Amino acid sequence: MSEARLVEVAVAIPRQQLFTYAVPESLGDRVRRGSRVLVPFARRKEVAVVVRDSSGVPDGVNVLPILGLVDDEPVFDEPLLDFLEEAARYYFHPLGEVLRAASPSIPTDAVRRLRRAGSVQKGERVRGPRLPSREELYVARTSAEPKRKLGTKQAALLAALDGEPRPFAELAKSLGVSRSTLEGLEEQGLVRTEVRHRPLDPFFRETVARDVPPELTVEQEAAVAAIRRALDGAPEAFLLRGVTGSGKTEVYLRAMEDALSRGRGALLLVPEISLTPQLVSRYRARFGDDLAVLHSGLDKAQRDAAWRGLRRGELRVAIGARSALFSPVADLGVIIVDEEHDPSFKQEEGFRYHARDMALLRAHRAGAVCILGSATPSLESMYGVERGRLHLLRLTERATGAALPHVEVVDLKTHLKGPTGHPLVSFPLASALRECLARGEQAILFLNRRGYAPALRCEACGTPAECPSCSVALTEHKAENLLRCHHCDYFTRPQRACAACGAGELVSLSLGTERLEEHLAEAFAPARIGRLDRDVADEKGIERVLDQFRRREIDVLVGTQMVTKGHDVPNVTLVGVILADQSLAFPDFRAAERTFQLLSQVAGRAGRGDRPGKVVIQTYRPDDFVVQCASRHDDDAFYARELAEREELPNPPFAHLAVVRMDSASEREVEGRAAALASLLSTHPLVRDGRVDVLGPAPALLKKVRNRYRMRITLRARERAPLRKVLAALLPKLDELPATTRASLDVDPVSVL
Ligand code: ADP
Ligand code: ZN
Repeated sequence: MSEARLVEVAVAIPRQQLFTYAVPESLGDRVRRGSRVLVPFARRKEVAVVVRDSSGVPDGVNVLPILGLVDDEPVFDEPLLDFLEEAARYYFHPLGEVLRAASPSIPTDAVRRLRRAGSVQKGERVRGPRLPSREELYVARTSAEPKRKLGTKQAALLAALDGEPRPFAELAKSLGVSRSTLEGLEEQGLVRTEVRHRPLDPFFRETVARDVPPELTVEQEAAVAAIRRALDGAPEAFLLRGVTGSGKTEVYLRAMEDALSRGRGALLLVPEISLTPQLVSRYRARFGDDLAVLHSGLDKAQRDAAWRGLRRGELRVAIGARSALFSPVADLGVIIVDEEHDPSFKQEEGFRYHARDMALLRAHRAGAVCILGSATPSLESMYGVERGRLHLLRLTERATGAALPHVEVVDLKTHLKGPTGHPLVSFPLASALRECLARGEQAILFLNRRGYAPALRCEACGTPAECPSCSVALTEHKAENLLRCHHCDYFTRPQRACAACGAGELVSLSLGTERLEEHLAEAFAPARIGRLDRDVADEKGIERVLDQFRRREIDVLVGTQMVTKGHDVPNVTLVGVILADQSLAFPDFRAAERTFQLLSQVAGRAGRGDRPGKVVIQTYRPDDFVVQCASRHDDDAFYARELAEREELPNPPFAHLAVVRMDSASEREVEGRAAALASLLSTHPLVRDGRVDVLGPAPALLKKVRNRYRMRITLRARERAPLRKVLAALLPKLDELPATTRASLDVDPVSVL
């Protein structure tokens, strides 16, 4: 046994350590870096990933042999595994858990067999499932002309066809024709049919015709040329800063084409893919259907098929939300992060990573070009340009030549009650909406609160109706007739009387999207009002509502942040922001940035077609700098001032942060442990030196969630290196905490919750 080859493997457990195993003769050199293997581990059998060869183990340590190989080939290639190791180090997260988060699922047949037999026999193959698809009959017209008179059904079918093949099932339904009608035409040589395999994936449900690439604008041309130079020369990272509607997508498409034509792969990350089914169509129109579209709606088999296709280089393009960052695109040429400012790129559970930051790292390591794109870049990226780490590409005009919308700011203090009787639908907004509807155009109204009425408060004693397990107010949901907690699963029937004093009546203070929808339906009948928020929107719901809106079956779309995302509906000429103050008041140093981004993004939905757009922003703070900048489209002023403020405090991007979150079922316990940890931290030399600040401990903004009390300790430093030293010293202390206190580390935190 002493001569056997030894390897170190990562097991998916919450510990930093790697474990050493011996490679049995029968597996030989098939066990490689990146291979998944089954190992005996603490009386269980665990799937682990081989990370490196081991130089040996201390005497007396009993090294056990690997039981078997899980897959034919390593699941991670060298560059991807290098990158994942670096990401794990950066976030101080156990490598085994990072690799699990990045892995395809384990083929069940392989595991069952491995567990039964204890090992895989030499030469045995583990096969992956095929991409599930459906056979569909397509029909197209030939150039032949009818030689005899056709029946009415046959004539109808023929009239509906041209040279482009169409799915017969759809025609059969809409025309009421049968298979024999089709066969009749086929016998006469008037139509031809073919069987196509279509993946059972919602993003591929509709067929998409190939597009004709537009002629680039001068600014697009310059951007594409700069990216191409980087692809052929020294790879670089870019910030593509382009106003809404400036044609950033066209630049992405060309960059991807350039990568593909050089035999390299492309990876595109987008914020929330289910919100933008339209987006995928644009890539299919250019590249065809050989794309891996990674989204939460895929089942295990589909996900694995996509993984394998990418790993083998059969699929060269991957598109997906943040976790697509880990997809094994072979020989990466370009990584694109669309809407790079979007907070959804931050993973907020388990392995907490920022997909934008990691995209830059992965591209750098792979020698690929990285493109971060946005109309409203993050402060981090703006600073990256200043520091010369990102090369700035600008698109200052809309590609279609349309002007940016005119923005009117409405002071809610001077517009007490609007004409509809609701204080939050002001005169200017109501009349703009009337005019828009009268012209047969469409509107989007943005309100960042779902539900009917977010806050219920007792009229007599002022006590809010709170969740018993979380320190947040309950939200009324009228259609369900429930009060719901938006942080846990708690719900209850609405009480009319106050639980605290028993006397007062609970009244709604403000409004949510559900109530706004109801109010508009009454006030603007017969206009058709639609709603988009997490209550109506599972994946199918989103698609349905957006489809209806695009087909003009909905006149006014009311919704939360979901309506601010990249929707491109040319008939939308009015955008209303019901209350700009909501996100401004949030206790987060990023509140101004977020508000500016939200306002600019939602405004960017207006006037994208050939008619001018108008935006109405309602607020109690019309003079606020953020509102003013957004209304004048003055991004430069906003960024200049915001950067100056961040520098002064300092806050990111001028400082680096890390947060230790702790929670426990006992408030006393978590407070005590947090205080002890903070005082221990304060004795660290780098903290005493003032190179690292310890802020807190303080209760989290949501002090209690699901009956667990939460504390935070924030560490802040101007330089990253000393911060990392303190974190490295802190880590073992977190492992020593008793199981009753849970703790986690968040490097470069985004959420203040
Ligand atoms: P962004 O992503 O910057 O908001 P889009 O890529 O959605 O902008 O482009 C906005 C619109 O402009 C789309 O309808 C797109 O088809 C169109 N477009 C993009 N580039 C061109 C171009 N070079 N010529 C004409 N139309 C273009
Ligand atoms: Zn709750």
